[in-house]
Amino acid sequence: SVKAAGEPTYQIGTDVTFPPFEFANSQNKYVGIDIDILNAIAKDQGFKVNIKPTSFNGAIQATQSGQLDGMIAGMSITPQRKATFDFSKPYFESGVVTAVKPGSDIKSLNQLRGKKVAVKTGTEGAEYADKIKNKYGFKVTTFDQSNDMYQDVMTGNSAACFDDSPVMQYGIKQGLKLKIITKPAMSGPYGFAVDKGKNKVLLTKFNNGLAHIKKTGEYQKIVDKYLNGKG
Ligand code: GLN
Repeated sequence: SVKAAGEPTYQIGTDVTFPPFEFANSQNKYVGIDIDILNAIAKDQGFKVNIKPTSFNGAIQATQSGQLDGMIAGMSITPQRKATFDFSKPYFESGVVTAVKPGSDIKSLNQLRGKKVAVKTGTEGAEYADKIKNKYGFKVTTFDQSNDMYQDVMTGNSAACFDDSPVMQYGIKQGLKLKIITKPAMSGPYGFAVDKGKNKVLLTKFNNGLAHIKKTGEYQKIVDKYLNGKG
């Protein structure tokens, strides 16, 4: 962190495109549930943030190497990641779903045999794919960004993709030409993350700020703005 006018500025990584959690709006400004929550917490707790959009996996690497002070990227709190990250209190529930092209015959994982499944590098969707690929007999294709992963399904190269349920639901509502065919798997909450054992002060501020914006109703206002059309 850099000291400026008394308030520290933290370098925070995020995913390039993971709406409604982070995305560039029409003014090319980063917005979304994660970004708005972080900004609200920063204001509440008296710190500044410099948002650095990178791939999800890029944010993981940069946080682990100390180039970033932390990351907020719809990142699932998992036992494995807890070995190398410290997480905030959970702030949003999620899970991994399977999506296919709207006209596709595929109605279940059983029909993926011999086909390709698109996933995003370093994500829970990729982890899920690795876990079940032998059972269902599909091949895994990885992408660094969600849009490229979706594109691979829409063009028909991959038969399906695995991505987070709230993100797929939001995308489809916004006109993304995909269809969800499974219930969420690997369900768990998102958390803000710092490199393990580092940036304890920032983590405490995040938790204190999160508790406060939940109490004031600001957290719910942000979620409603993106998910319940109250923006
Ligand atoms: N929630 C998923 C994970 O933590 C996906 C995150 C993302 O794609 N930004 O792996």
